[in-house]
Amino acid sequence: MNTALLKKYADFIIRVGVNVQPGQTLIINGVLETAPLTRLCVKAAFEAGARDVRVDWADEACSRIRMEMGSEEALCDVKPYVLRSYLDFAESEGGVCVLHLLADDPEVYAGLDAAKINRVGLARRTALKPWRVYTMNDKVQWCIAAMPSESWAKLIFPELPAQEAIEKLWAAIFDVCRVTGGDPVGEWRAHLDKLVDLKDKMNAYDFESVHFTSSNGTDLTIGLADGAVWESACSTDDRGTVFLPNIPTEEVFIAPHKDKVNGIVYGTKPYAYNGQLIKDFWVRFENGRVVEHGAAENAALLGELLDTDEGARGIGEVALVPASSPINRIGLLFYNTLFDENAACHIAFGASYPGTCVGGKEMTEEQLLAHGMNQSAIHEDVMVGAEDTCITGLTRDGRTVQIFEGGEWVL
Ligand code: ZN
Ligand code: ZN
Repeated sequence: MNTALLKKYADFIIRVGVNVQPGQTLIINGVLETAPLTRLCVKAAFEAGARDVRVDWADEACSRIRMEMGSEEALCDVKPYVLRSYLDFAESEGGVCVLHLLADDPEVYAGLDAAKINRVGLARRTALKPWRVYTMNDKVQWCIAAMPSESWAKLIFPELPAQEAIEKLWAAIFDVCRVTGGDPVGEWRAHLDKLVDLKDKMNAYDFESVHFTSSNGTDLTIGLADGAVWESACSTDDRGTVFLPNIPTEEVFIAPHKDKVNGIVYGTKPYAYNGQLIKDFWVRFENGRVVEHGAAENAALLGELLDTDEGARGIGEVALVPASSPINRIGLLFYNTLFDENAACHIAFGASYPGTCVGGKEMTEEQLLAHGMNQSAIHEDVMVGAEDTCITGLTRDGRTVQIFEGGEWVL
């Protein structure tokens, strides 16, 4: 991999992605494979004025052994210090920001007990909920970025030797993250302006619902939450710091109304959930709840996901992404939601982002529900956009507006 580009990537992640502010503590959650990138990010964070940088390492191989051999009782026993390790920083004067560096093996838990994995995940999410409120409400800056690992690269390029596969994945990541040209900060500024323009146009129409159709059989009407606003890429935290939660990002998204989703939708890309792949899935909604579902592979896992809690059968996000997005055009399936969700329109099972509703960040859970904002311990994006996706919007004054045709924006 090109070390000059790697440094630019790290600088971009720290200065634009998390946008570390002087005096803040940065927490990096990284897997061992990300060490070269993590080290550069630590350095870039101090250069940006970070007070301190804490790195929490994980190893996916160990995680798998633990998931396989540990008792469910022990794995679900999340001690209070884990939550405090975030809150202590979040509540301190300088504040905190958090960066997740992924190098996922999308099949790390393949073949293990899906129900157990799901319950362990839920126990952790439940224990960490007070911290999750900080990130879901953009009270702190947070960012997710990725670099290749051998297992991930081999899954994407099974025919290549490991080193070559890793190099190819690096090239793909640099490409779709707009690093290849050597000026990611400049390129992103122009790209973000375009997304903001689209979201402003969407908001000006004042849509009540959007309707998805495709030749694959998708026919889905999504009513929007009361007071919902279309958002794009950038978020702003409580202190007014602008950050980029996902690198890369191509989406314009909003919160659906939890009771107003009807019809059927077909998945267009495999979906990596809890270290296993769900392939060729479909779900049918009635009044906002999934009432029927299926998948060619790992259908039971999809069932586990939908059974996580009350809100997991509803959706908390609908996002529009054109088929011409660089992540789709590069023609690769990344087997990683961070990338694949930016290749296609998607919906997310589970919680909505309070920020996608006017005043939502200040609302209680009950108030959010009253606005139709779905609540859940999960937020799982699944890809449903196709090359021929057609989307129309129905405005509150009864006009029908073409939004997507042939998978592309036509606004
Ligand atoms: Zn999204
Ligand atoms: Zn999402």
